Amino acid sequence: MIPARSELVIGSLIVSADGHGEETEVLNPADQEVIGYAPVADAELVDQAVTAAADAFPSWSKLPATRRASHLSAIASWIRSDTLRLAHILTLEQGKPLSEATGEVQAAAKAFDYYAAEAVRVYGQTIPTESETLRSLVLRQPFGVVAAITAWNYPLGLMSWKIAPALAAGCTVVAKPSKEAPLTVLEVVSGAVRSGLPAGVLNSVNGGGGTVGNLLASHPKVAKITFTGGTETGRHLLKLAAEDVKSVLMELGGHSPMIVAADAPMDRAVADGVKRSFRNAGQLCNSVNRIFVVRSVADEFIGRFAASAARLVVGPGLDQPEPDIGPLTNAETRDNVEDHVADARRRGAEVLVGGTRPDAERLSRGFFFLPTVVVGTDEMAMMNTETFGPVAPIMVVEDLDEAILRANALQFGLVSYLYTRDLRTALEGAERLEFGTVNVNNVGGGDVPFPYPGWKHSGLGVELGHQGLEEYLRTKHVRIEIGYR
Ligand code: NAD
Repeated sequence: MIPARSELVIGSLIVSADGHGEETEVLNPADQEVIGYAPVADAELVDQAVTAAADAFPSWSKLPATRRASHLSAIASWIRSDTLRLAHILTLEQGKPLSEATGEVQAAAKAFDYYAAEAVRVYGQTIPTESETLRSLVLRQPFGVVAAITAWNYPLGLMSWKIAPALAAGCTVVAKPSKEAPLTVLEVVSGAVRSGLPAGVLNSVNGGGGTVGNLLASHPKVAKITFTGGTETGRHLLKLAAEDVKSVLMELGGHSPMIVAADAPMDRAVADGVKRSFRNAGQLCNSVNRIFVVRSVADEFIGRFAASAARLVVGPGLDQPEPDIGPLTNAETRDNVEDHVADARRRGAEVLVGGTRPDAERLSRGFFFLPTVVVGTDEMAMMNTETFGPVAPIMVVEDLDEAILRANALQFGLVSYLYTRDLRTALEGAERLEFGTVNVNNVGGGDVPFPYPGWKHSGLGVELGHQGLEEYLRTKHVRIEIGYR
């Protein structure tokens, strides 16, 4: 079932991991067993992939949008038909429970279906001119070759949010997943090409960020870099893009606050807070990273939140019955979680739940960490930088104004959560929170039909929704004089 040796698609060339060339080993984070190999692209292969994409661009961009849409629908159907196998690979390489992996695969299919429908909704404009014989048209045209570089926490979801709109717009793509968890993306690129996509339209490369990612992003034939990952990497890519004046779409790190007002619907706040703090073991750009609860309801909220978190079950994502939380994806992420918990303890915070690795011998080889609830202040490192782990820090505040002030104090501006029963508090709070998404009394969002912009240091541009398609189109003004003789 597992592609022990996966492959890269470079135009019409398939490069398989065969044990001879350079390869990355992909580990199961639940036990550190090797579950697959992926070929690493060298400079020549990166160049071939970009060149194949550049060569395919003229015909792909000229193809009628209805036909590009059919290709995207075919990819969606193929993903759906192979959901179980893909989800299995995803759990093995990334660690999340199988039902969550299944949800991610379904979300990828949804992205291809959504952008198949959007592909035919690219509209230009005509602008009235000052002359009877002058016409002014505004066209929207694809950029060209797109380099899509993504993180490992939602490897397939994040990549499909880039490939689908880019292809729908008429761009061609070279996809570079994270070498931590590349297998599912490489499978989907191979499957998409086998489902009939013309050679060169979608290509894949694999390898480290500093090497392969860098080569790809700085390639002169790449017109746009679309990136999801950490803010530091984003800064680096922005500098690279500036050298060559490339267009960018940046989805960067988040540090989402959750505000629990005095009139919060408490059942919902507790259930949603626990769900969004620990989903995917906290490895979410829109994870609840810091909770500000107003003093009058703090005891009730903290007590119920801690009790609920303590009931969560940790284990390998393929276990049955299924655990709530799988392992962290790598040792570095767990080290960071442990550092943040140690920092909180040093600052006098109270660790109400978890705070350690689990005891169970069968989990000792995996990168597991117990769901952890900490009560302290926003001086703790975990309240200032991403922990990217199953840790929920809570701070008691006096009122809503203090909560909003503290929520806005960081440079992260991806997602925020506000719990209140009052419509005015909800609307005014949503207007004051400096985040691309404000969720009121829910933890949805990050879903294909809706825009998902990062504000401040959390990004540039808009992924998802119709705007997520517009990102791959540039504007051309055509001015035509028809009164000549
Ligand atoms: P990362 O920035 O280390 O890596 C992301 C991708 O960039 C990987 O494919 C990596 O190989 C590549 N890369 C790294 N250095 C590079 C370089 N110098 N040149 C070109 N490519 C390079 O991030 P990560 O550790 O994989 O993922 C975690 C981060 O992603 C977190 O900060 C998280 O918040 C963020 N993230 C953001 C969103 C969002 O939508 N805003 C979604 C998911 C994850």
